[in-house]
Amino acid sequence: MTVPTLSEISSRLPAHNPDSLSVTQAQQWIRDFVQSVDIVETVGLHAALGRVLSEDVISPINVPAHDNSAMDGYAFRGNALTAAAREFRIVGIAYAGRKYDGPVAEGECVRVMTGAVMPADCDTVVPQELVKSANDASITLEPGVVKPGDNRRLKGEDLAAGKPALRKGKILRPADLGLLASLGIGNAPVQRRLRVAIFSTGDELRSIGERLDEGCIYDSNRYTLHGMLVRLGCEVVDMGVVKDDRESLEAALHTACESADAIITSGGVSVGEADYTKEMMAKLGDVMFWQLAMRPGRPMSFGRIASNGKSAYLFGLPGNPVAVMVTFYFFARDALLQMMGAANDPLPLMRATSQSSIRKKPGRTEYQRGILSADTNGHPQVRVTGSQGSGILRSMSEANCMIILHHEQGSVNAGDAVDVVLFDGLC
Ligand code: AMP
Ligand code: MG
Repeated sequence: MTVPTLSEISSRLPAHNPDSLSVTQAQQWIRDFVQSVDIVETVGLHAALGRVLSEDVISPINVPAHDNSAMDGYAFRGNALTAAAREFRIVGIAYAGRKYDGPVAEGECVRVMTGAVMPADCDTVVPQELVKSANDASITLEPGVVKPGDNRRLKGEDLAAGKPALRKGKILRPADLGLLASLGIGNAPVQRRLRVAIFSTGDELRSIGERLDEGCIYDSNRYTLHGMLVRLGCEVVDMGVVKDDRESLEAALHTACESADAIITSGGVSVGEADYTKEMMAKLGDVMFWQLAMRPGRPMSFGRIASNGKSAYLFGLPGNPVAVMVTFYFFARDALLQMMGAANDPLPLMRATSQSSIRKKPGRTEYQRGILSADTNGHPQVRVTGSQGSGILRSMSEANCMIILHHEQGSVNAGDAVDVVLFDGLC
């Protein structure tokens, strides 16, 4: 299959301003360009957490395998229920894993534990706490406490034999591992982990352990990027800080391209940047340099470079620590999931009441760092973390969500509803 170039894709997109590309246009552009890396491996269930399923898993069995009781109680024939109180004679007992094999006539019942196979002819269970009276020999049931069919789990109601239990592209979560185990399946076919090479550019950057000369700062971006990538299930190739000279940058891009599926750099893509990052990126492949209508994170480069017959997608993120995280979450993340072959639903947005006013100009997307909490009625409310400067990583560290102020949106008044995206959630 021939892969389209970025300019071919751009010619298909609606008119856009390259000096002020909207977030949604850039996201679309990336989506159209990126292809999945389809390399499959089989892993045991413990190793499958967070991995992307590479084929549908068809259930080989019914789960549950038999109709069984949902409660501790008494099983009987539902058609024996009458309008008046009725006594049922206890003819046996069934435990989970040890069934009752005898017949059950109308007017008889079997003591059953949760998970016990339903005795033959029985279709209804009355929970023990709803029985009017019980002794070793019989129970008495008042009318109306259960209906025929109540408290019976049906064979195959969880998973039916021959039907897909999990779909290709699913990112396996704890429930999915349990679900596979419930089918007796001990291995899962998954996509190979995506390899992502990262490096930082900038002569002012020092690595931890190095002396901090005047005007220098520690490189933090590699660590936030590492964390975000690991959470996404990627394998990280950390290439450190790369010096701002042609040879070092070219060598780093070649090595990254040959060892990874994608490359994420930070720094050096701003307008007027006195370094060679952009020049080298453009030299090695099909790369575009965007000015995005967003804050934080205006400059970004994106494309694909090639080296010795291998190619890799490239994300040149801005250098500011908050801008790195925002551009990663709203551009790179989706693209990486697409490369991983993951079924990728849009990030779930939640509406929350803004606790204060927020100034915002229409015509760009803004991502404010927020703290989401519950008001006295338990409804979601959000406030911005202190200073929102794009270099202030503390604003990210204190936040538990991002407030998204959309492209066309203007200023927000206290009490208005805003969209937020949460950093963490159960999965
Ligand atoms: P740049 O995009 O290279 O112009 O960088 C913008 C700002 O981010 C500058 O203040 C840089 O010093 C800072 N910066 C760039 N890279 C990093 C990094 N890896 N860690 C921390 N700050 C950085
Ligand atoms: Mg720089």
